[in-house]
Amino acid sequence: MRLGIDIGGTKTAAVAIGADGELSDQVRMPTGFGAEAVVATALRTVQRMTQLAGVEASAFSSIGIGIPGTVDSVTGRVEHAVNLGLEGLDLGSRLSDRLGVYVRIENDVKAAAFGAHHLLGVADGIRAHSMAYLNLGTGLAAGIVLDGRLLRGGHGVAGEIGHIPVDPAGVTCSCGQRGCLETLASGSAIARMWPSDDPLPARELFAAADAGDERAIAARDRFLTGVAAAVRLLVLTADVDDVVIGGGLAALGDPLVAGTRRILNEWAADSAFLASLGLAARVRVIPLGFPAAAVGAALVGEDQWPKS
Ligand SMILES: [Zn+2]
Repeated sequence: MRLGIDIGGTKTAAVAIGADGELSDQVRMPTGFGAEAVVATALRTVQRMTQLAGVEASAFSSIGIGIPGTVDSVTGRVEHAVNLGLEGLDLGSRLSDRLGVYVRIENDVKAAAFGAHHLLGVADGIRAHSMAYLNLGTGLAAGIVLDGRLLRGGHGVAGEIGHIPVDPAGVTCSCGQRGCLETLASGSAIARMWPSDDPLPARELFAAADAGDERAIAARDRFLTGVAAAVRLLVLTADVDDVVIGGGLAALGDPLVAGTRRILNEWAADSAFLASLGLAARVRVIPLGFPAAAVGAALVGEDQWPKS
């Protein structure tokens, strides 16, 4: 049995995968803030999963954890995870020492990409295709799976496309550059372009645009142009078969996919080159409730590549 834990900014979710690939029920609990609280949350989650399965922690052949932030997946060190109040935490070794099982740490978007690739591959009956997981949350980042393998790059930076500048006249990004993709296509971009008290500002924006509000249409299309630019970028750099949109904004569902395809088709009408790539057909949204992040964490825990 492999155990996967997705530590999010507010919630932690876990799932176990049996030898036959069967998924256990998911366990969810609130995430603590700060190093000791995050370690305690992880340990509590493992304990809860062992109780449910009626086994000891050592019965898990591997444990993987997805966590938002800058992560060294070889050493298991979390350099920064601002939302969790972490700075230089050796999460992997602390948990491995406590549990007596090797615990691999991975960036949450990369883990989710690997999980989405696995789950969609099982659903579609394709195992080794190439896929990008485009995470639209507060920020924007992607995870890339090429021929069935997770692309990390030399320093785990591969896929951090949210900080590719696309608009020289755009606003300053949290990273210090100007006009990053993230300033167009993310939850924080929508919060800036469409200030709202609604708990789901993106949904309110889309509803206002559908109702014909011109300011809303402009803001929505600016957002969708950013999403379409991210799709184009991922296909042109990695030629992925699918770009699967996940993250909080994936809850927008079909209107998000349809709007992104509309922009891509407009571009294709002006460019035979882009038309030949079939970009619109490569976009899809992850089904609601798909436990991609926790499943991906369980799979990366299995040690895809040598530890040294
Ligand atoms: Zn940036």
